[in-house]
Amino acid sequence: MEMGGFPRLKQSAVQLFKLIFPPACPLCLGTLPSKGAGDFCPTCLAGFKPLPKAHCSCCSLPFAGAGNSSHLCSRCLKKPPPYTQVYAFGLYEDSLREAVHQFKFNRKVGLDRSLGRLLEQSIGSDLNIDLVVPVPLQRKRLQQRSYNQALLLAREVARTRSYTMDAGLLVKTKETALQHDLPAREREKNLHGAFRLERQLSGEDVLLIDDVMTTGATVAACSQVLLAGGAGSVNVAVMARAAR
Ligand SMILES: [Zn+2]
Ligand SMILES: [Zn+2]
Repeated sequence: MEMGGFPRLKQSAVQLFKLIFPPACPLCLGTLPSKGAGDFCPTCLAGFKPLPKAHCSCCSLPFAGAGNSSHLCSRCLKKPPPYTQVYAFGLYEDSLREAVHQFKFNRKVGLDRSLGRLLEQSIGSDLNIDLVVPVPLQRKRLQQRSYNQALLLAREVARTRSYTMDAGLLVKTKETALQHDLPAREREKNLHGAFRLERQLSGEDVLLIDDVMTTGATVAACSQVLLAGGAGSVNVAVMARAAR
């Protein structure tokens, strides 16, 4: 038998598979133009609104109106957040909102790679990171949903950048009311004592990852716990930033 027959057979099997199942956009499921498997189609990509140039230099809150000078928002000026900076891929509106919802509630777990890749590209490349930590879900909620979307994003970012991820470090110990059901000032109270660390840290620079940031109460509560537990610094990366 001719050497190399098997690889050729394998290759044509792959080609046949691609012919039957051409690479599809994970959001609209439309066929992708040639190669980009695992990416969004140009239409979906164009529908994602990037974070505007004018945003808070700490919490990434988008500023209304034009202009491109970034400065601190009034909230960050009044009460500096515990984290260093928030990196956000885009605005929690339109197609990105839709993508995050599908990812969260419709079990479209296939979205994790494509979203994670976009998130990775929006994080400063000069950041010093020792540890990637996803915002955890409480166990009961995790059972209902069967996966934590923040963890899937964190895994993709850690894999792409060769960072170490510790998904068991930060745990959510109490069931809290859903944040989006509460008015802004109730959110902080709701999260008090909701997170703890499984082990002490010794000066590690942490990258905390979540899917959506609205008021920032959740990432602030997590950052506080990480810093109190010995983290050297906490930077935050979120897929979508809401203009609250
Ligand atoms: Zn699409
Ligand atoms: Zn701010």
